[in-house]
Amino acid sequence: MSNPERITVVGAGLMGHGIAQIFAAHGHPVWLHDAYPGTLNSAKDRVRANLTNMAEHGVILDAGIDEIVDRIRTTGDLATACAEAEFVFEAVYENLELKQQIFADLDRLCTVETILCSNTSVISITEIAEKAQHRQRIVGTHFWNPPYLIPLVEVVRAADSADECLQATYELLARVGKHPVYVQKDVPGFVGNRLQHALWREAFAIIDEGICDPATVDEVIRNGFGLRLPILGPVETADMIGLDLSLAIHDYILKHLNADPTPSTTLQAKVEAGELGFKTGSGFLEWTEEEMAASRQRLASYLMRSYAEQQEPGA
Ligand code: NAD
Repeated sequence: MSNPERITVVGAGLMGHGIAQIFAAHGHPVWLHDAYPGTLNSAKDRVRANLTNMAEHGVILDAGIDEIVDRIRTTGDLATACAEAEFVFEAVYENLELKQQIFADLDRLCTVETILCSNTSVISITEIAEKAQHRQRIVGTHFWNPPYLIPLVEVVRAADSADECLQATYELLARVGKHPVYVQKDVPGFVGNRLQHALWREAFAIIDEGICDPATVDEVIRNGFGLRLPILGPVETADMIGLDLSLAIHDYILKHLNADPTPSTTLQAKVEAGELGFKTGSGFLEWTEEEMAASRQRLASYLMRSYAEQQEPGA
């Protein structure tokens, strides 16, 4: 690749080290910055472990693991990290004041051409940009965990984002194998999390109402319409079954679906009782250490196999 863009990632936690890995694995020089030395010092080992795991699952890497890891440099100094950056990806804690401060700092430290991207899950990009002067180069890039295995990145237009900055970000992400999509309005949850949590609200309401038990909710999804989802979204499915039938179904069912603006009563009760899921071994379901490890491994293996399959000729 000729002149791969210089990338900086701010925040080396769960998402940040994975975002750094994406760019390093595609030949980009990366500076990775974190305010906490412990997190920073372990970041390259975490990248190495991810890459090793991917290679063991049949993923073909563009270079040797050492070479990829060596493309990442780490620093506790934000100015050093972003002095020459062409793109900065922010992945610090999900806190508006912190992100506003980081973007004000980046705006001051980076050249005016540098494009600044936030990986916030739900916070308004427009609000995050508020304390910066050159807001035209601030855009949302919402990656999904783990960012090096899930293709989607939502490229979010904030109030002042310039078309050319959105397009340059989109094109960069496409070049490193991501599947970027434009989100044209800076709304809470963007597109992916609005869809995801519409489903979760109904799932938890079904549990609240005793329509079926929690395990059955997941069984219905995983063995039913969930099997279609990697192939057909609701838009294509509606076209396939016919919009007349889709309308007839919605005419009848929408009034029966949950539309509460407050979280499920079961969810609230569980949190009050300290039943937090994997964190405590008890949530909607009961979990042993072995079951939790098996669940995590099932997901990781599935995602890595899917990634490897996408690399096969003709995929
Ligand atoms: P994390 O807690 O694993 O990592 C955040 C990192 O930010 C930590 O390493 C922390 O040391 C660092 N940090 C905090 N303050 C800093 C500062 N002032 N300067 C530099 N570094 C600082 O969190 P995460 O899960 O990686 O989430 C990061 C962002 O990505 C959040 O905005 C989150 O909402 C978003 N996000 C998370 C997920 C997910 O599934 N975890 C998915 C999509 C988006």
